[in-house]
Amino acid sequence: MPALRFDIITLFPEIFSGYLTQSLLHKAIEAGLVEIVVHDLREWSADTKHHKVDDRPYGGGPGMLIQVEPVIACVEAVQAMGPTPGQVVLLTPQGKPLGQRLVEQLSLHPRLILLCGRYEGFDHRVLEILQPMELSIGDYVLNGGEVAAMVVIDSTIRMVPGVLGDETSSHLDSFSRGNRLLEFPQYTRPREFRGWSVPDVLLNGNHEAIAAWRSAQSRQRTLMQRKDLLAAPTQDLPTIPPAVSGNDSPPAAPGTAPS
Ligand code: SAM
Repeated sequence: MPALRFDIITLFPEIFSGYLTQSLLHKAIEAGLVEIVVHDLREWSADTKHHKVDDRPYGGGPGMLIQVEPVIACVEAVQAMGPTPGQVVLLTPQGKPLGQRLVEQLSLHPRLILLCGRYEGFDHRVLEILQPMELSIGDYVLNGGEVAAMVVIDSTIRMVPGVLGDETSSHLDSFSRGNRLLEFPQYTRPREFRGWSVPDVLLNGNHEAIAAWRSAQSRQRTLMQRKDLLAAPTQDLPTIPPAVSGNDSPPAAPGTAPS
């Protein structure tokens, strides 16, 4: 059984076809770590001819709303398709803002049902009946919830054990469990480019010195770019663990002796 199953409910299932066949997500699906099932909301339309699922808002105003009946019928049917009903997540600009802490919490659910809106959004009874987790990816308005659903999936699968090659990388990333700050600067070959050099401390193999430099750089970058993060409580691992042997040097270029 996969560690995390996503059910996506959308009016535009085709939007996901390219996304599901690429990169880390594709590998995670192939490895059976993550399962993604896309459902076309129109299949639950009572209108068997045109598969209509939207109508004009009572009281007037621009645009159309997604109707309550197909959404409830669809969510109930989708819930019954899995071993657990899962957490229903309704994508909306009015929801709780998605941040790394919430991503980490979401990844602990065995099943997430992502409800993507379109047009002016949903009939409010969808929220009243389902009581979903309302989630926003930022204070701006998208045309639909599909891109937001991809953001949720993309960020959440990184937390699933086995998805990333190196599990420590998700601890060291910006905003993450390591220190909740921005990540330190990183460099790879060549050592020098147009007079710009890699800091000496990264080349001397002294893991304690490297960890101290990275820790200081992480704080410095956060101070410059995102001072607000320094005011928020940090937690979990207070310092960045020293790099382990074999992980600290970039791979040697083919046919080149490691420096
Ligand atoms: N009328 C709605 C409002 O003002 O709250 C906005 C509707 S928006 C044009 C259509 C759909 O896009 C929403 O139902 C939602 O699923 C999705 N969406 C738009 N912005 C989003 C955001 N910032 N986060 C998550 N989903 C969003």
